[in-house]
Amino acid sequence: MPIKVLDSQIVSRIAAGEVVERPASVVKELVENSLDAGSSQISVEVWGGGVSLIRVTDNGAGIPSGEVELAFDRYATSKIGNLEDLESISSLGFRGEALPSIAAVAQLDMVTCVASEGVGTYLSLKDGVIAGQGSQGRSQGTTVSVRNLFRKIPARLKFLKSVATENSHVANVVSQYALAFPEVKFSLFIDGRAALRTPGSGQLIDSIIEVYGVEVAENVIELKGEAMAPSPRVAGMVGSPSVSRSGRGYLSFFVNCRWVNSRLLARAVEEAYHGLLMVGKHPVAVINISLPAQEVDVNIHPTKSEVKFRNEHIVFSAVHRAVRQALVEKLPVPRIEEVAVAYESPSPPSQALLPSAKVSITSPAPWAPEVPTSSLPVLRVLGQLDNSYIIAEGPDGLYLIDQHAAHERVLFERIEHQRSRREIEVQGLLEPMTLEVSLRQEEVLRSHYQDLAEFGFSIEPFGDRTFLIRAVPVLVHDKDWAGMLRELLDSLSEGDKGDWAESVAESMACHSAVRAGQALTDEEMRELVRQLEQAATPHTCPHGRPTMIHLSSGQLKREFGRT
Ligand code: ADP
Ligand code: MG
Repeated sequence: MPIKVLDSQIVSRIAAGEVVERPASVVKELVENSLDAGSSQISVEVWGGGVSLIRVTDNGAGIPSGEVELAFDRYATSKIGNLEDLESISSLGFRGEALPSIAAVAQLDMVTCVASEGVGTYLSLKDGVIAGQGSQGRSQGTTVSVRNLFRKIPARLKFLKSVATENSHVANVVSQYALAFPEVKFSLFIDGRAALRTPGSGQLIDSIIEVYGVEVAENVIELKGEAMAPSPRVAGMVGSPSVSRSGRGYLSFFVNCRWVNSRLLARAVEEAYHGLLMVGKHPVAVINISLPAQEVDVNIHPTKSEVKFRNEHIVFSAVHRAVRQALVEKLPVPRIEEVAVAYESPSPPSQALLPSAKVSITSPAPWAPEVPTSSLPVLRVLGQLDNSYIIAEGPDGLYLIDQHAAHERVLFERIEHQRSRREIEVQGLLEPMTLEVSLRQEEVLRSHYQDLAEFGFSIEPFGDRTFLIRAVPVLVHDKDWAGMLRELLDSLSEGDKGDWAESVAESMACHSAVRAGQALTDEEMRELVRQLEQAATPHTCPHGRPTMIHLSSGQLKREFGRT
């Protein structure tokens, strides 16, 4: 279909809005255009977190020379023509908004060539205004280069996170489309480094290997992909419970190959894992749902990242059934109690450890605060409640102490203190361990493995998606530190954590602290309370939650109606 400006009647029906929020949104729109153009090869290159340069090159259909300029008009699209088309959209784009929106906030150059014209066309725009055009040789396909994103909009620039975080968002977009289109050869270069390459073999497992690494790929179960009308076809792969993750970032959903966020679908998958995962753990899943275009409305969200199913119920149960069936066939579904036991104490990643002092609550605090700024009175431990709370008595009433939160606070301060003095105790591993991470995590880790060294992690790059760990902090050496690192990288790649070092200390403290439900001896409780008394901020855990509840003698009297 030639590119045409949509008439106002259709425009009024499209959920238009701001599409360029950050560099990754530019990448998303450009990659979607390349996919709509039927490309079999798409290369994405970003520099400086995508602010300096984003370049997407494809070998798709290209744009005829006579239509190139028009493509930058608002609401100009070749993908829909009338209102009926809006009811059954089969392309990823349809609003004719992306190119003009991107051109308005950056400097954009396009070179494009269709097979029927021997020579290509270039068009260059600055702040949305044409600055140059002409013909230029190139093979069939399109290259769009976007430079100096948001240079004229400081408010937007300010909103962007660190380069590492923006890179990680870009990596996520490319990863998702690589998973959705295994038949397309994707490559991603970040500051000149090849970050991702998929073979374009058409096999989903090949994309999974590249995006999530071999460890995940070896532990996925294929969905049957049967369609039984009126149910949609549900295809893809789900991870076995052994590769569960602590966030929902590993749930990828595509509806007719469009990457979408969907709480409905996430719930369908998570319910299918019911009883198979420990509380707080989430599955890995890459699922494509194919259904007739009329059965789904993709025109409800400005960035097209949410969809509405005509019949949610049918979609929900189709996904739930497909996943549950795959899991049940592959695994002898154990009872919940067994699972809980099996996963409760994740075995440490390596037993091959050099000898070291064992750390536990009972070991004396290896540091003493220079100025004891205790804001807690001396407490006398009376006992433990529910294996989770320490009951203690102070000069003014009763204290109920959350043992996990309190220990977290103590450890957090100790870690911060030791780090500031470069005194973190390190445990060398007899044999270095490899840590496989996702592309997204890799982007964060690459720019921070040296920071992690300050905390006692000796980490070095070791090829694609893999890092070599030679030493870990003593505090976490017998804990699931690999899981801890992954969780940390996930939360940091979201970019909402402020201080890096604080997040690392928090995470280490949280993973090494005694758990709720763990019985403590009197001696251990006394030691913990003594350490808490010495903490600088004893009343809250590092996340800001209270460590204790205090009932003063006055309150107790009032409660019992005495005056
Ligand atoms: P939409 O994708 O919603 O149609 P865009 O602003 O993203 O709107 O693109 C406008 C038009 O430019 C598209 O409809 C398409 O015809 C053309 N176009 C954009 N990018 C490409 C590309 N990489 N290859 C071929 N045609 C493209
Ligand atoms: Mg588009």
